[in-house]
Amino acid sequence: MTYQELENQIVGLQDEGLELFNAGKSVLGKNILATHVGEYSGPQVLIQGGIHAREYITALLLVEMARNLHNNDSVKGGGIYFVFLTNPDGAQICLDGIDFLNCDITKNYLLSANNGSTDFSQYKANVNLVDLNTNFDANWGGGSQNVFCPATEDFVGFYPNSEREVQSLIDFTLNTKPSITISYHTKGNVIYYGFEGESEENIARDQSIGESFSELTGYPLILTENSTGGYKDWCIQKLTIPSYTFEVGDESLSHPIGVESLPEIYNRNKDIPLLALQKAIEYSKQIDFQDPFVQNIDREVKTNGFNEESYCARLLCKLNRRSAHRRDNHSRW
Ligand SMILES: [Zn+2]
Repeated sequence: MTYQELENQIVGLQDEGLELFNAGKSVLGKNILATHVGEYSGPQVLIQGGIHAREYITALLLVEMARNLHNNDSVKGGGIYFVFLTNPDGAQICLDGIDFLNCDITKNYLLSANNGSTDFSQYKANVNLVDLNTNFDANWGGGSQNVFCPATEDFVGFYPNSEREVQSLIDFTLNTKPSITISYHTKGNVIYYGFEGESEENIARDQSIGESFSELTGYPLILTENSTGGYKDWCIQKLTIPSYTFEVGDESLSHPIGVESLPEIYNRNKDIPLLALQKAIEYSKQIDFQDPFVQNIDREVKTNGFNEESYCARLLCKLNRRSAHRRDNHSRW
């Protein structure tokens, strides 16, 4: 498969009547494409895939899910956002190699991190050699596998939230205010939930919802340990919402998992979006979406006393940022 073929699968949804919009941009300026099914009122679920380059099969999984749920009467009482491919630059490096890059310095940088090999099929990072699912500001840099130098995987970045793809997903999440998020990865057929420091009450809530996902898919549910800086971790720590990482595809398969495995993966996961929405509706009174920006203002007011000028400046900045993103998100590209 080429990157163009992968992108065509996502873009092709428009021909079936799904509206695509941008969840943000990659470092190289690619659109991070998203769609929505169901109603914009009521609880929302956000499902994202392809944050690790070689795991692009998860983008195709989300394409199938969105296709299946488009104009489907069962999606009611809320809605579901799909962010198909959070790391499009990385997916292109994995699928096409580095010839498409115009800049020799970037090519040499990637080649040296890849031990001089032109085979990038095992690539996980973005074009900056940052592992995006370790770059989020949630106990950043504290994971047992983290590395602190640019690499094809596990490099946390030079500072938290440094990468454009990460900032895009954060802004998109703050704009859409999901009640539950699910991140699709490969591989191992397991579901991770929970994060260090989460309240017992919320862990119990997340476990209960997670058990229903586990029952439906047959994937065991595992409490996260020694992993930090992921999107799931950020959602749990900063927004206090239930958030899950699904590792799909049998452990015996090699990366990148080929499209021939898609039907099996899809069959086990096809009802997850609807179940997640059902759980979001069921638990809506217990899910309190904490806006980290507002939390910071609260904290600032509590620690420094109320400073009207600083408060207004920050609020204005926030509103401007949000409306800019809203414009971007809803303009067809
Ligand atoms: Zn992954």
